[in-house]
Amino acid sequence: MPKLLIIEDSVMMQKAIMHVAKTELDCRFDIVSTLAEAHQFVTDNDYYLALADLNLPDAPNGEIVDLLLKSAIPTIVLTATLNEQKRNLMLRKGVLDYIYKENRDSYYQAVKFANQILHNRDIKVLLADDSLTLRSHIRKQLQKLLFQVIEVSNGVEALAALEKYPEIELLITDYNMPEMDGMELIRNVRKTRKRDNFPIIGLSSSSDPTLSAKFIKHGANDFLVTPFIHEEFQWRILKTMEQIKLIKEITDSANRDYLTKLYNRRYFFNHAKYLHKQASANGSSLVVALMDIDFFKKINDNYGHNSGDAILIQLSAVMKSSFGNFTVARYGGEEFIVIIEQIEAQKCATLFELFRKKIAAYNFIIPDGEISVTVSIGAAALADESLERLISNADIALYEAKEAGRNKTIFARPPVLVTG
Ligand code: GH3
Ligand code: MG
Ligand code: MG
Repeated sequence: MPKLLIIEDSVMMQKAIMHVAKTELDCRFDIVSTLAEAHQFVTDNDYYLALADLNLPDAPNGEIVDLLLKSAIPTIVLTATLNEQKRNLMLRKGVLDYIYKENRDSYYQAVKFANQILHNRDIKVLLADDSLTLRSHIRKQLQKLLFQVIEVSNGVEALAALEKYPEIELLITDYNMPEMDGMELIRNVRKTRKRDNFPIIGLSSSSDPTLSAKFIKHGANDFLVTPFIHEEFQWRILKTMEQIKLIKEITDSANRDYLTKLYNRRYFFNHAKYLHKQASANGSSLVVALMDIDFFKKINDNYGHNSGDAILIQLSAVMKSSFGNFTVARYGGEEFIVIIEQIEAQKCATLFELFRKKIAAYNFIIPDGEISVTVSIGAAALADESLERLISNADIALYEAKEAGRNKTIFARPPVLVTG
């Protein structure tokens, strides 16, 4: 578990930090107030980042920075004194950022920054530039922000890298490169990855002011004019990433159910329509299952609505892990739907049975303790009917499963009890 080290001697500031860190920070943290104390803590080297006050009682001249950098802990400096010379010295030494402690809000900013950096560790960035010098400079800047960096020297290599590492989340590209230039690279990337879920930042040199606009027109999200100053680089990269994250959150909130975080009915139908069209065209397999919790009303009546909610959340998590990449959605109150493409009905039936048994054996945690619930499952495989008809066949099978005594899986047309 990554930890944050905070070095601050003022008790008042410590209180302010504790408050902000407790509500805003996504990881654990330690606070120390002297250089001597920091010495003891840095030996336990699982700090991903340090927020350091430059002026400490036993180290008034920023000695803390040398200790942190020597211990290979990325460091953000917080200081009450505005001194341009000192700031440049610190940045040259290799600190990540230099934040002025103007008020309590400064710590809020620092913690927000610390959170972003924590998430950067999981993010791969592709950097395309044929100039070794510039590339190495930008790589260092990105690594300071803890990004994982993959480097290439032209557009062709960039496309190959994107194919090899589909998890790359950001592309930074130069314009002039051999084989394939930045614009053509962007054009190619945009065929499959759109502006609102895959950010691209173009690099343009200050000698050609028209490039920036060209980049945006061709599909880049932003541009960086080289040479750039430290703050501008960070700001452009982090803002671009933040924008994409916000767009994702907005899209998610439209597509997902608030309580269980599963896809909602609306998303399900949009996606199912697409799968149905494909399966109908290719004659491939498509299976739908409706799953409904048995006697859920009684659970609410006996244990309260909050317990009911807790069960819905836990059951959704089991569903998500049981059906891997297939689409699982909350269909209604205590009813869920799964759609499985390209797996034959018999195998799907086995999967559903496994899931039914897993739920029956699962201990659901509610405020009063633990309880068990069961689900009834009705499934149907596509013959050549409409999506609505396919779902209605599954619904009829679900009704049969309830009639047959609940905690059962039944496959439609004609209804077949999968096991007893
Ligand atoms: P059956 O075995 O026939 O499915 O019986 P049941 O009690 O599960 O079915 P019924 O349709 O009678 O009741 C469903 C209950 O689910 C009623 C409703 O209050 C409850 N429910 C629906 N949505 C939620 C929710 O978001 N949270 C909680 N706690 N309960 C919900
Ligand atoms: Mg170049
Ligand atoms: Mg029910």
